[in-house]
Amino acid sequence: MNKRVVVALGGNALIKPGQKGTIYEQFANTRETVVSIVRMIKEGWDVVLTHGNGPQVGAILLQNEAGRRLVPPMPLGICVAESQGLIGYMIQQCLSNALKKEDIYRDVVTVVTQVLVDENDPAFDNPSKPIGPYYSDSQAFKLLKDGYQMIKQKRGWRIVVPSPDPKSVVEAGVIRRLIENDVVVIAAGGGGLPVVQREGWGLDGREAVVDKDLAAERLAEAVDADTLLILTDVPCVYLYYGTKDQTALRKVGLKELEGYYEEGHFPPGSMGPKILAALRFLKAGRERVVIADIDHGWDALMGETGTIVTKD
Ligand code: ADP
Ligand code: MG
Repeated sequence: MNKRVVVALGGNALIKPGQKGTIYEQFANTRETVVSIVRMIKEGWDVVLTHGNGPQVGAILLQNEAGRRLVPPMPLGICVAESQGLIGYMIQQCLSNALKKEDIYRDVVTVVTQVLVDENDPAFDNPSKPIGPYYSDSQAFKLLKDGYQMIKQKRGWRIVVPSPDPKSVVEAGVIRRLIENDVVVIAAGGGGLPVVQREGWGLDGREAVVDKDLAAERLAEAVDADTLLILTDVPCVYLYYGTKDQTALRKVGLKELEGYYEEGHFPPGSMGPKILAALRFLKAGRERVVIADIDHGWDALMGETGTIVTKD
């Protein structure tokens, strides 16, 4: 049996800081990002990919806003589904091209993925995740009247939506069957499409977003991965991050990391969910979580860089 890894690509995998996010930039970045993925596959790992979508879904929401007089704006779930398609397409094409250059003929496919959340999740009463463009005071006032929840940030007002906890991946079964057939799968992009199970109806989408690291963890459990590899824009996890006492964590056990989490070293919305994902994955009895820089994916998988979290 091959070793199996779920690789979660962070927001800067496709658009780097300072870039506009043109399709040329995104494709060029994707080609760089897949280099380490090719190496993993070449060395015999089963790889399942997932990714963030912040900049891409932000752009789609902006297009929605700018074009609302010409075409009906789409709900958030539809925008996330669009972003899964557009990002999946880029990865799918770049990865299969790169694999072919190594004489590896594997299908790469993106699964539009729904993630089940609890209708009674307290997050639904407390929208906290800012999404989309910044608005002026007068625009924000209109949106508030339309029933949107807004918060004021430095650059202006933003819509906030609930971020419920993912429970399971709806398409887990088909994803597993694809992997068993040697297909490289890209799934649960942007945290997946949050759906609830509605009595007498079935699955039903919600105006919410799921954190991509927490969704990656559910995906990793569902596909029986040995390793969850979270690739982001810092070399590793730090204690006292951003202060003069900043200390890199290289190898850390579950209990120790849980202690640091409770001490508040990892803010919500950035490092917090990655750590929570790590704790969950290990508590589910899996082997290892590595959090590392996106430019060193292979070395991180080999345990040579990044933060490695194990049971003890
Ligand atoms: P991604 O798109 O990869 O999920 P995020 O911005 O959500 O990226 O999370 C990575 C960021 O977390 C880093 O750029 C860093 O600024 C921030 N961060 C917050 N606390 C820590 C910490 N304790 N150690 C390392 N990075 C941290
Ligand atoms: Mg993040």
